[in-house]
Amino acid sequence: MIMPNNLKRQYLQYAEEYKRKACEVLDSGWYILGREVSAFEEEWAKYVGAKYCVGLASGLDALWISFRLLNIAEGDEVVVCANAYIACVMGITMNGATPVFIEPDQYDNINADKIEAAITEKTKAILAVHLYGQACDMTKIMDIAHRNNLKVVEDCAQSHGNHWKGKKVGTFGNVGCFSFYPSKGCGAFGDAGCIVTDNEELAQMFRVFRNYGSEKRYQNMMVGSNSRLDEIQAGLLRVKLTHLDEANEERSKIAARYQKEICNPIIQKPKIRPGADSSWHQYVIHVPRYRDALVDYLKDRGIGTLIHYPIPPHLSEAYAYLGYKKGDFPITEQYANEVLSLPMYNGMTEEEQGLVIETVNSFKG
Ligand SMILES: *Cc1c(COP(=O)(O)O)cnc(C)c1O
Repeated sequence: MIMPNNLKRQYLQYAEEYKRKACEVLDSGWYILGREVSAFEEEWAKYVGAKYCVGLASGLDALWISFRLLNIAEGDEVVVCANAYIACVMGITMNGATPVFIEPDQYDNINADKIEAAITEKTKAILAVHLYGQACDMTKIMDIAHRNNLKVVEDCAQSHGNHWKGKKVGTFGNVGCFSFYPSKGCGAFGDAGCIVTDNEELAQMFRVFRNYGSEKRYQNMMVGSNSRLDEIQAGLLRVKLTHLDEANEERSKIAARYQKEICNPIIQKPKIRPGADSSWHQYVIHVPRYRDALVDYLKDRGIGTLIHYPIPPHLSEAYAYLGYKKGDFPITEQYANEVLSLPMYNGMTEEEQGLVIETVNSFKG
């Protein structure tokens, strides 16, 4: 059985290093906000090319706390791609703000040419989600933001270490948000996240907010939350980070092989926007007809797949209150019916890759 993702494999690649670090943190007797978190924050900021990084408990926390600290609240609108992961939208609505959905383009990311028509007096920010490991067109997005005086938050949960025109994602907007959920590029071994920013004051607000609004013990300068990154996760992330470029390179090789060898007229392979590189968080094909038949065909032959994502946020029960109906975002809805993520993970053998390619190519529809 080939699983769509296999987290054990990437662990096994450096198991001894992870075990050593976990024991080191356990033996240290210090488990929250200590030297591992500080060191990881410094190393991640440097890796991404931002001035500051603040470790948080999850990617969702990174998003909603960003909007909170940027003063985006009830009555405000935030532009986001309609085919985003539901957590992106929750990051907006947890502060009472309203998402304004934009259809994706042929690269599965927000169609920047459609943003300006959706801007109203209430629009305060753009949430740029770098979906599947590929950067949005940050040149167009930053230009629109500057002209309309909007904040930009980047959701880099699926894009650890990839670039737009040679500059790492997360460094274009006011804040870059990262999730270190285990399946993400630099995945932790539990929940974790962070933000990066070049704004010192804002970084300090995140540091205070994540710890009950407290800078000095028992002195609370604002109503905050508990969103601290654990020492043990930070330590394990430091190990992972030393292998991140290597891991991205390995997935790029698998993707290159898929791009070259998958050949089936029923299937559209992923397209990479000129100016972007992909970290191949997912390898997402489009199967305009027969997607569900292909899922069954692969499953019957021992190959697991996933759909990212089968229900677009505007049609989710959670967002029924926004009042959207089927047909409101036809491209997004079409994508939800045709996308399919093929197996893609570190430690995937050449034999497994070959079997995926061969099986996909033999599907007749
Ligand atoms: C995973 C993910 C999140 C949420 O991160 P968590 O750490 O699970 O809270 C947000 N946005 C995107 C695009 C994601 O892929």
